[in-house]
Amino acid sequence: MTTDTMRAWSVVRPGPVDGRPLELVERPVPVPGADELLVRVRACGVCRTDLHVAEGDLPVHRAGVTPGHEVVGEVVGAGAAVRDFAAGDRVGVAWLRRTDGVCAYCARGAENLCPHSEYTGWDADGGYAQYTTVPAGFAYRLPQALDDVAAAPLLCAGIIGHRALRRTALPAGGRLGLYGFGGSAHLCAQVALAEGARVHVVTRSAAARRLALELGAASAHDVGEPPPEPLDAAILFAPAGGLVPVALRALDRGGVLALAGIHLTDVPPLHYETELFYEKELRSVTSNTRADGREFLALAARHGVRATTHPYPLSRAPQALGDLKAGRFDGAAVLVDDLS
Ligand SMILES: [Zn+2]
Ligand SMILES: [Zn+2]
Repeated sequence: MTTDTMRAWSVVRPGPVDGRPLELVERPVPVPGADELLVRVRACGVCRTDLHVAEGDLPVHRAGVTPGHEVVGEVVGAGAAVRDFAAGDRVGVAWLRRTDGVCAYCARGAENLCPHSEYTGWDADGGYAQYTTVPAGFAYRLPQALDDVAAAPLLCAGIIGHRALRRTALPAGGRLGLYGFGGSAHLCAQVALAEGARVHVVTRSAAARRLALELGAASAHDVGEPPPEPLDAAILFAPAGGLVPVALRALDRGGVLALAGIHLTDVPPLHYETELFYEKELRSVTSNTRADGREFLALAARHGVRATTHPYPLSRAPQALGDLKAGRFDGAAVLVDDLS
């Protein structure tokens, strides 16, 4: 390390992103705990959850937190108990930061439900900074084929989208609807298509509809138009509870709707016969396990999954969040350090 301070974004006043909830601050470079890595951030994806942290949709877990949980970086230091990583290793830092490892959920392989879990960029400082830390057991090794910017959005958008896809239990060759088509959906779509699904996309954004068709979706429609065939499964990526009944009506008998977001506006009353009867199922998706993450990263490498990325300088992180909120880009924004 050449310096002992760094620049980092801090959520000083959670609120609408136009009201400048984030401030660029100078802080000491963090000191890794005994089981943690110190990571020099090379790229950090901008996730909708960061927007929810900045705007106060999620309660404050750590005052002044640095958001960012799609971090690609280089190991530059480690605590005394770390054995599996060395300086110079490239690692990914994702949303799930720590679990207790001993509760009933952890014991049955559902560590995503651990009541004592901690999250990067919410409970602990994340990657909108020049350095961050991660418990070594929760750091991912990344496929060589992906460069730093391309790999970043896979770490949350990709992994969560993948868990949502698995939660739908989509049958082989099945018909999948995707409601909303941002960073997570466009990665999920690529795995579903590679596995033989027919994918129908519903989104307000004309640019996202174009991207969906380029990637191989069978159809792409504006909200308000139903997909052209009944769906075996659907995933709601847009944080709009009003779309829950819309997506349920588009399901075939026995279909499953998975809700991918961590935050959703209220779901309106459901009409039993048209929206739930015939064994339609509604399932939420909560975070992910490390096994989900490793499975997705391996599939992403095997199927050549590519994030459509829009690099932003780290110094303009608030603009990236504002543009995400306004839907001004398709795919995923990625912050790259311009402050060194
Ligand atoms: Zn646990
Ligand atoms: Zn995320």
